[in-house]
Amino acid sequence: MYPSKFIYQAPSSMEEALSLLQQYGDEAKILAGGQSLVPMLKLRFATPGVLVDINRVPGLGYHRRESDGGMRVGALCRHRDLERSAVLAEHQPTMHAAAQVIADPIVRNRGTLVGSLCHADPQGDWAAIGVACGATIVATSSRGEREIPLNEFVVGPFENALELDEIATEARFPTARGTCGGYLKLERRIGDFATAGVALSMEASGGRVSRAGIALTGVGPRTIECVAAQDYLRNKALDDAVIEEAARLAADAAQPRSDHRGSADYKRHVVATFLTRLLGRELALAA
Ligand SMILES: Cc1cc2nc3c(=O)[nH]c(=O)nc-3n(C[C@H](O)[C@H](O)[C@H](O)COP(=O)(O)OP(=O)(O)OC[C@H]3O[C@@H](n4cnc5c(N)ncnc54)[C@H](O)[C@@H]3O)c2cc1C
Repeated sequence: MYPSKFIYQAPSSMEEALSLLQQYGDEAKILAGGQSLVPMLKLRFATPGVLVDINRVPGLGYHRRESDGGMRVGALCRHRDLERSAVLAEHQPTMHAAAQVIADPIVRNRGTLVGSLCHADPQGDWAAIGVACGATIVATSSRGEREIPLNEFVVGPFENALELDEIATEARFPTARGTCGGYLKLERRIGDFATAGVALSMEASGGRVSRAGIALTGVGPRTIECVAAQDYLRNKALDDAVIEEAARLAADAAQPRSDHRGSADYKRHVVATFLTRLLGRELALAA
């Protein structure tokens, strides 16, 4: 199917992009990597009157580590840049693990992390990573900037908290020294969305967990933060019994539905297994 008619705008500065959003209001949609929006246009699930393509806006393609250890990812940083990033490989294990399993190489060449968070697909991988890491989004408009915690940014399936005149310009991932963790994703075939995914971002000191961020992909109507499992792990020293209980609490937090990818029970089992593996790996490394 062909998209419905739209006006195409390709601003060459952030000021121009923001003024186009002001001018066109709810008619306008931002185009970043186009890997979710273009299929939506072709299926006519989205019929914007105006596309504001931000790919010519300079200075948005970065990802970098700040002096406090936090990672900053600009709105035009592609999945591919993160997949190959030495900075992530060295300092941000949860993001590094996810970057290897987003879609396929063609999608990774164009798609962006920030676009993925804006798209707010419950099956999207980056949202689980962001929730586990405590990420925030910087929303920019001609009124200035505001920082929105990812938990509040994603307000429902395919819905985010941006105002009509705002562009998401950056995602911020706090990363303390010694952060550990990872992301495990079950997919039916390479490049598929997750049947189930588990993200873990953890900090430990003195042999005890000081912070655990755990989030699930693909097993509910939205990304799920496993609050009970996180609270349970705080101040605990990892051992087999602790890991088993955390895995049970995470599986309880999942809200999967039986479908062509598997039964609800199977998906819950995958969640428990993946968290057991992720925490077990940290236990083995600490030993
Ligand atoms: C075949 C295929 C397989 C895929 N598999 C996976 C997968 O396994 N895991 C996964 O997580 N994703 C997957 N995706 C989605 C992919 O990761 C997309 O790249 C991502 O969801 C959207 O990023 P984008 O830059 O392409 O955004 P776009 O498609 O350009 O935009 C998506 C939405 O976000 C809005 N938007 C984008 N950027 C901004 C911004 N800076 N400010 C405000 N609004 C913005 C757009 O207006 C639009 O509504 C897949 C896509 C395809 C086509």
